Amino acid sequence: MQKLDKLYEGKAKKLYATDDPDVLWVEYMNQATAGNGAKKAQIEGKGELNNQITSVIFDLLKARGIDSHFVKRISDTEQLVRKMDMYPLEIIMRNTAAGSFAKRYGVEEGTALNKPILEFCVKSDELGDPFINDDGIVALGIASEEELDEISRQARAVNDALKDIFSKIDVQLVDFKIEEGKTGDGRILLADEITPDTCRLWDLKDGSGQIEHLDKDLFRRDLGNIIPAYEEIYGRLVKLAETEGVERAE
Ligand code: ADP
Ligand code: UDP
Repeated sequence: MQKLDKLYEGKAKKLYATDDPDVLWVEYMNQATAGNGAKKAQIEGKGELNNQITSVIFDLLKARGIDSHFVKRISDTEQLVRKMDMYPLEIIMRNTAAGSFAKRYGVEEGTALNKPILEFCVKSDELGDPFINDDGIVALGIASEEELDEISRQARAVNDALKDIFSKIDVQLVDFKIEEGKTGDGRILLADEITPDTCRLWDLKDGSGQIEHLDKDLFRRDLGNIIPAYEEIYGRLVKLAETEGVERAE
């Protein structure tokens, strides 16, 4: 596989074309951002960890019957993915109140929710990723009714599978963001990344009752170094994949 022109440079990843029109070459960068890019830093080792974490998560999901754009990991910081036409949506699933949800409704972070909540935001740094409901998505032509049904079904299935994965490594999956896209032949699939940058992950191991963040809130809220936390998540996920005999794409 040959790496060709750079197509896009985002806040965390660079995308390149390859000699296969259906495959993209993704490079994970060390840049960390928060507040839609308002806060920025270079954190040595972050690109490598996120590339490895999202790869093992996509493998663990595949073993649970959930397909994604992931083809294979090709180096410490790079992977190949299926090229998708992305829906400009941040698809958020919440199991516990935290972050913007806790603030919006005035509930304490950590409050259990009676059912998982699926939320959508329009992906736009300029507009600050505004909240949108199902009717808004269809009315603006972002996705058709049928496409939105499939995106929602997949988001809930990803949540069920991720809850299972994280509970097995003693981590509480508080909330997360995914993105979905459409392949050239019209198949809707999970894309982008699933990492501690895009999930809230609380450690259940220390049992102190204090929230122990193993995710990007450490950076967003100036609570400490993200690297040991991301290494902890990666180590536990790899052990789980080994225990389950999950096939690794690398
Ligand atoms: P951002 O664009 O939010 O700064 P990144 O730096 O992570 O984020 O950039 C990755 C970009 O690649 C995002 O815009 C994302 O929607 C897009 N993307 C993710 N997976 C695919 C894919 N399989 N095909 C095409 N684009 C993708
Ligand atoms: N999230 C993300 N990218 C974004 C916004 C949110 O990955 O641009 C993730 C975030 O890590 C968290 C979940 O989505 O796991 C819900 O985030 P929330 O709406 O609470 O926003 P925040 O408090 O991060 O502003």
